[in-house]
Amino acid sequence: MTIRVRYAPSPTGDPHVGNIRTALWTWLHARHHGGQFIVRIEDTDQSREVPGAVRRILDSLRWLGMDWDEGPDIDGPFAPYTQSERLPMYRAAVERLLEHGRAYRCFCTSERLDALRAAQREAKQPPGYDALCASLDADASANRASAGEAHVVRFLMPREGMTTFTDLLRGEISVENRLSDDFVILKSDGFPTYHLAHVVDDYAMQITHVSRGEEWIPSAPRHVQVNQALGYPVPVYVHTSVILGPDGGKLSKRHGAKSVLEHAEDGYLPDALFNFLAIMGWSPDGATEVMTRDEMIAAFDFSGLAPHPATFDVQKLDWMNGVYLRAMPERELSEQFATWLERTLPGDVPRPIDRAYVEEITPLARERVKTLRDLTPLVDFFFAQEAPTPTREALLGKPYRERAADASRALVAAATHLEVVAEWDSARIEATLRTAAEEIGEKAADVFMLCRVAVTGKPVTPPLFETMAIVGQEPCLTRLRAASEIVAGG
Ligand code: GLU
Repeated sequence: MTIRVRYAPSPTGDPHVGNIRTALWTWLHARHHGGQFIVRIEDTDQSREVPGAVRRILDSLRWLGMDWDEGPDIDGPFAPYTQSERLPMYRAAVERLLEHGRAYRCFCTSERLDALRAAQREAKQPPGYDALCASLDADASANRASAGEAHVVRFLMPREGMTTFTDLLRGEISVENRLSDDFVILKSDGFPTYHLAHVVDDYAMQITHVSRGEEWIPSAPRHVQVNQALGYPVPVYVHTSVILGPDGGKLSKRHGAKSVLEHAEDGYLPDALFNFLAIMGWSPDGATEVMTRDEMIAAFDFSGLAPHPATFDVQKLDWMNGVYLRAMPERELSEQFATWLERTLPGDVPRPIDRAYVEEITPLARERVKTLRDLTPLVDFFFAQEAPTPTREALLGKPYRERAADASRALVAAATHLEVVAEWDSARIEATLRTAAEEIGEKAADVFMLCRVAVTGKPVTPPLFETMAIVGQEPCLTRLRAASEIVAGG
């Protein structure tokens, strides 16, 4: 049997990490088994639709490097893949259920339903429809509907017995039927609810495993009943665990949980985020964490997932991103850096950014950034159109706070020694600065810090001598002399 699995987002905003993690596991399962991964847009709740959400969902998948075999943009044998374009199929299913007495029209007004809910609350009863319209005569109800009276269609749940289904991660789950009310399957606007639409589509699209978040477990008995009433085989359910915040509560932005595209904007690498999400609740052997995509595909199966909640740990994500940054071949990393700098350097830096120059900087920066976002403030001075103009306080720092004259002397000495360096490389720059410091009786580390701030304008930079080598001899000398004047000028 070919594995056919789907990711079925509702276009109500940017997909959150829990939703995307389920998609990513579903994709891994498909790729492991040589099956098909299908994207289906579930837009039957038109009031919650957010413009642009479909594009952002597909962009999120693309950015993570997940491809799909069938979907709204590429179609496939079971097109269309957007539910609002499949309304006739849901109506046909509703007709069948009505004919077989497994569904009925409900004409209750929202006022009546509100009053019912209030009374149930008052009586401390669980909320739910009281099945008033279940006893309507079928012909009379059909006539009222054809006369244009507003109504919904509800599924008639069995009043007795149990519904049993298998969840791949949790085993058999049995729930008493009387716990579910007769839920709406077709709304008054003619759109189906999720309860009906996904059942019809999963069958029509020959989906083998329904993978979705565990918040759907309580509704699963309804879905099993709808499948059975329509004569469909019940699919295998895979309800993935929730992701909690590190405090054990509901995961939120406060814990660093952003959408996929926000992670992209914040300078995370797609492969690192993919790996991080994949192992949040899964490991092939209980220990392995860093894996290539192929290794994950080779090892993954839904059955290896843990049913208990996972914890989102943004520090681990940062660590993972650092691992990927450092492991990336230098050329590729340099490309990533260049693209990022292109986007984030100030507008007055000429574009395109000089790729060869970025290649020189890449080895200096790679150990010092956890995400690409750390890169720009670390290296922007390399690209600045104007030489930095550090303040006197910044230049003096702690060591020279009371000794401005000594700082000025040290900067002049540094410049004078560096001026005669014939081959401008980091080893010679270092040796020369050490000699200069020694000659004037200053600590080498203090002179290095002066030079760092003078040349880059910042106290924290990539390694000083390599940095100076890239900035170039003339610009360094000019900056050291300018700094000595700033310092003396106070
Ligand atoms: N449209 C549902 C959601 O976004 C999909 C649940 C499912 O995968 O069946 O929550």
